Amino acid sequence: MDSAGRFAPSPSGDLHVGNLRTAVLAWLFARSTGRKFLLRVEDLDRARAGSEAAQLRDLAAVGLTWDGAAVRQTDRGALYAAALDGLEAAGLTYECFCTRREIQEAPSAPHAPQGAYPGTCRNLMGPERAEKRAMRPAAIRLRAGVSAIMVHDRLHGDFTGVVDDFVLRRNDGVTAYNLAVVVDDAEQGIDQVVRGDDLLPSTPRQAYLASLLNIPVPEYVHVPLVLNGQGARLAKRDGAVTLTDLAAGGVPADSVRDSILSSLELPPGPLGNALGAFDPDRLSRQPWIWRPQGPPSVNLG
Ligand code: GLU
Repeated sequence: MDSAGRFAPSPSGDLHVGNLRTAVLAWLFARSTGRKFLLRVEDLDRARAGSEAAQLRDLAAVGLTWDGAAVRQTDRGALYAAALDGLEAAGLTYECFCTRREIQEAPSAPHAPQGAYPGTCRNLMGPERAEKRAMRPAAIRLRAGVSAIMVHDRLHGDFTGVVDDFVLRRNDGVTAYNLAVVVDDAEQGIDQVVRGDDLLPSTPRQAYLASLLNIPVPEYVHVPLVLNGQGARLAKRDGAVTLTDLAAGGVPADSVRDSILSSLELPPGPLGNALGAFDPDRLSRQPWIWRPQGPPSVNLG
């Protein structure tokens, strides 16, 4: 199978410049290494009507090209079910009936890392399980055999993070992100994962799951997020941060693309021109601070 990189947005609203910059970086990493570039719409959760089309339009407007049609996670339930069946058959799952509150209030197991599932439902006896089943539907958790593993990231180096008994299928029947992402990346032949560094802490869980599913672990590249002037992660409330809002203020998509390229110390213009100048080893490890933009100044001379 061809090797590929990807961008995998959640269609929960318009993309902002931070998302677009991550997409541009994913494209640059994939194309500069001769990989295909695929789009995957992560719509298992938080999908908003119209958002998918708007996101694809905006990605095209900054000049991104992708191979084949975007795939949608809601069309891929059979793949997730097959992976879950395999894990279940291997005794690597269990039912969990905990509410979020019960998890928060449970005493954490000795030596358990912060934020790890405390294991409340791991060893329920048959009658207890039957009683709980009658009360509420179960989520399915992984029966993890480790509490942490190390992954390698192109920008962050070796990173060790928590692997707990994380959820594979939620109690409303929806496949959890950590299972879907691992199954999808493998099935789509993705061997390079470039995404925002807010996802680095989830990566050991995903790499561990990949190893259980006999899936090769992709190359990981977690890129810095874009921050607002106060140093917080850029959000919609930070003013005109989407292409639609920026265009309404007189800033066209090409200027936004050029700002993104300039933040990467790459030449302005079509993305293809930036490709030759892109050097992953020179990429800044610092977040980019987004300053509100006005329309490009008009040269009257
Ligand atoms: N869908 C996730 C997001 O928009 C990204 C997942 C990934 O790149 O692995 O935050």
